[in-house]
Amino acid sequence: MTRYTVGVDVGGTKVAAALLDESGDIVRRSRAETESGTYSGMVAGIVSAVGDVREGLDIAAVGLAIAGNVAADGSSVLFSAHLPLAGEPLARDLRDALGTPILVENDANAAAWAEHEGGAGRGSTEMLFIALGTGLGAGLVLRNQVYRGSQGFAGEAGHLTVVIEGRACPCGSRGCWERYASGTALVAEYVQRGGDPEVGGPGITRAADAGEPRSVAALADVGAWLGRGLASLIAILDPEIIVVGGGVSKAGELLLEPARRQMAASVTGSAVRPLPPIVPASMGNAAGVVGAAMLARRHAQ
Ligand SMILES: [Zn+2]
Repeated sequence: MTRYTVGVDVGGTKVAAALLDESGDIVRRSRAETESGTYSGMVAGIVSAVGDVREGLDIAAVGLAIAGNVAADGSSVLFSAHLPLAGEPLARDLRDALGTPILVENDANAAAWAEHEGGAGRGSTEMLFIALGTGLGAGLVLRNQVYRGSQGFAGEAGHLTVVIEGRACPCGSRGCWERYASGTALVAEYVQRGGDPEVGGPGITRAADAGEPRSVAALADVGAWLGRGLASLIAILDPEIIVVGGGVSKAGELLLEPARRQMAASVTGSAVRPLPPIVPASMGNAAGVVGAAMLARRHAQ
């Protein structure tokens, strides 16, 4: 098998590709704009970004990290809220165009795998990964394997109901966990305390670092909701470690300490069971492409 693999982060208007060597280090990067809104435009963007990054080299496989539900066999996207990929033979079309094995993967699963192999979850067997960005995504590594469920719909933790008849969610339901624990929720909590919505998630985190009380309280609230939801997941999965990534996780202990406290208060039997540590992710923004490339190599072998 050749030394290199490619991981691709597929977004709505941009595709970012990274070439990885066999130890999982990124050695080249490229970007391409995609003609958004059409399947053929997305495929052309992916082919262009991969072509740039692999130039002159043999590659073993290409892994795609995509925000959406992905078929458990890694061949296609089943559902995506923002990308025109659902139901299309994506792996087949890219294999025909690029001449390499292709793996399509959910972005949270890909990031979870990167954290499990080389990041904050290294050495664990049962790991729960939570990505707190605009919404809340989750990736499960169970018995050292990414768990996708029977079809590929597993890990949609952001839409667990945590409040009956709670805040409306774009998914059509109410009271979903990501309405309370996400970057969107952080801004909502801050605005509810009289903050300016223009400050945005990263601005709130910076202000909280400097001790601004509204920002600290908003992060503590989101952290408590994170802990409350995690308590339910712990009841089902009994993970060894919980790794929290995504933009909101940059708040560090201002988010995680309230999460640990609430989790301990909410878990059934917390007095008699050791609780899993909640730790920040360590692979940063590249986790998705790194994990997708690693998984694609395994898939191709
Ligand atoms: Zn929802």
